Amino acid sequence: MGDFNNYEAVIGLEVHTQLLTKTKMFCSCPNIFGKEPNSAVCPVCLGLPGALPVINLEGVRLAVKAALALNIGINKKSLFARKNYFYPDLPKGYQISQYLDPVSSDGYLSVKTDGTEKKIRINRLHIEEDAGKLIHAGSRSYVDLNRAGTPLVEIVSEPDLSSAAEAVEYLKNLREILVYLEVSDGNMEEGSFRCDANVSVRRKGEDKLGTRAEIKNVNSFKFVQKAIEYEIERQIEITLAGGKVVQETRLFDSKTNTTRPMRGKEEAHDYRYFEEPDLPPLILDDEFIGEVKKSITELPRAKREKYVSKYKLTEYDAEALTKDKEIARYFEDLIDKNNGRVEIKKLANWVVNDLLFGLKSITSIGKPANKEVIEKAISELTHVGADNFLELILEVESGNINKNTGNTVLLEMLKDPNKRAAEIIKEENLAQVSDDKGIEEVISRVLSENPKELEAYFAGKDKLFGFFVGEVMKKSKGKANPKKVNEMLRGYLESLKKGGN
Ligand SMILES: [Zn+2]
Repeated sequence: MGDFNNYEAVIGLEVHTQLLTKTKMFCSCPNIFGKEPNSAVCPVCLGLPGALPVINLEGVRLAVKAALALNIGINKKSLFARKNYFYPDLPKGYQISQYLDPVSSDGYLSVKTDGTEKKIRINRLHIEEDAGKLIHAGSRSYVDLNRAGTPLVEIVSEPDLSSAAEAVEYLKNLREILVYLEVSDGNMEEGSFRCDANVSVRRKGEDKLGTRAEIKNVNSFKFVQKAIEYEIERQIEITLAGGKVVQETRLFDSKTNTTRPMRGKEEAHDYRYFEEPDLPPLILDDEFIGEVKKSITELPRAKREKYVSKYKLTEYDAEALTKDKEIARYFEDLIDKNNGRVEIKKLANWVVNDLLFGLKSITSIGKPANKEVIEKAISELTHVGADNFLELILEVESGNINKNTGNTVLLEMLKDPNKRAAEIIKEENLAQVSDDKGIEEVISRVLSENPKELEAYFAGKDKLFGFFVGEVMKKSKGKANPKKVNEMLRGYLESLKKGGN
């Protein structure tokens, strides 16, 4: 009876994401983060009497784009409603949102966890406006209304998720799609992608949902994971002890990895929703929807599948190459320019192992949470144009320089993107020594400078072969073609042995 394993979690997620429009949802104030407080405001978003809202069509376009990508049905007629509540960051005393008739409903997102595919149903995606922001400093609080009225979509899943890991996977996929489509910048630190999680538990095999708690505004994947894990455990413990889970809103504390009560959850009717009298119904025609559909580019998941099936790349490489849209674009540009000269698998290796690694050594791209670092890395990557990078790859593939030298050249290129690969190779005299005479000279020098090792080698210490190769490479400053060095050294030693006998 009283076993943790007899219980299962039921999780639904509400995601709020800011849209990348130039202006706010119902006025022409700029939609900008981090400006001087209260500098991007007007009578409409300040809620001054007599000011009238106007629907931002770009906001509608981005919402429809997101909905289509998430397989959510578009409702040709939708309504805006007032969601009434009082809070100091909400100057109008209500938020314009969509309630009974959202712009889109009934969709799904496929999520892969532990190798199995699961369809997570999406109840709806609707348009609304954001509230302002309170800034607490010491004993005072300030209000900044720059964010008031900025466009948001809320994406509400059905309670189809059953673990913290699944929830995180869903969020990652969702965020990736929105960022790829340029619907949102997905920046979690700045709050443009934030999540509320509804968590409840029930005995396995039961249909009825347990009482849920809502965890508000969690702003990183790690915190979502921790918050849900803690909440599941807390609720099962209460249930096992014979208690009852209370319906409430809880806050996640990232210092202790626990959640604590914030306030009792308002029932939906507490908001006294009613249709927004200042806005007409939102009517979308087939032409508009069709045009938005056309603007949807290949989604990351489709790209990954194509990279694996068509280009024969590993899942790992496909993942690394598609994680960021700009990197994928760069890689595809490289494939186009390459025009079949170098195997695609090799191009992928160059981008993943050398270019991204090269960038890592300069900018430490390994920290995906840091937007600035990624942006810097990507700008450096795109500065070394695909054609220039391809030149470098061809220099290596043709044997003009070896792989190590190639990486040296790459680092030079990253430091100074205006320099062409060929130019650096010429300037620094890096071209590989492949001519037999040059290599033979170095071999003969190395062997005569190491008589003891040579004797030991002839006495049967075969391992010393590697030592000689190393010395030859060192003497030629890494420019000798290693394959050639191996062949010639073997021949040379062979002839010495015969000559000695
Ligand atoms: Zn405004």
